[in-house]
Amino acid sequence: MCIFCKIVAGELPSNKEAENEHFLAFHDLYPKAPMHLLIIPKAHIECFQEIDAHTMAGLTEFIQEVARRMGLDKSGYRLITNNGEDGGQEVKHLHFHLLGGGKLKWEHLHDESHKNM
Ligand code: AMP
Ligand code: ZN
Repeated sequence: MCIFCKIVAGELPSNKEAENEHFLAFHDLYPKAPMHLLIIPKAHIECFQEIDAHTMAGLTEFIQEVARRMGLDKSGYRLITNNGEDGGQEVKHLHFHLLGGGKLKWEHLHDESHKNM
């Protein structure tokens, strides 16, 4: 079982913020912003490339609701999912990073060599 499945099953502790039958939002262990939540489907889906449109529609509503609940809907936030090897996905259970609580930086995510590609 992957670590996020263990969190869903209650076998690993987490700081939960919101949940319903299908989705769970909990605080990232190593926050990269004043507010950093991870939002996941409870079912094991490996990555964004694997999610079906129907489940994604429900997840979209859930994420918007969590953003409202955290007071981020007006101030703004960033939503990120790292997909696969080049995307830097470390945990192979689909998760969206919901980041906010302050003005976020936006920087080059790769060195300058991409200009020659
Ligand atoms: P990613 O690199 O997109 O796969 O993101 C994985 C995220 O999971 C990282 O931001 C980690 O800090 C976070 N993380 C790893 N283990 C845990 C955990 N047990 N509880 C909460 N967050 C975790
Ligand atoms: Zn899993």
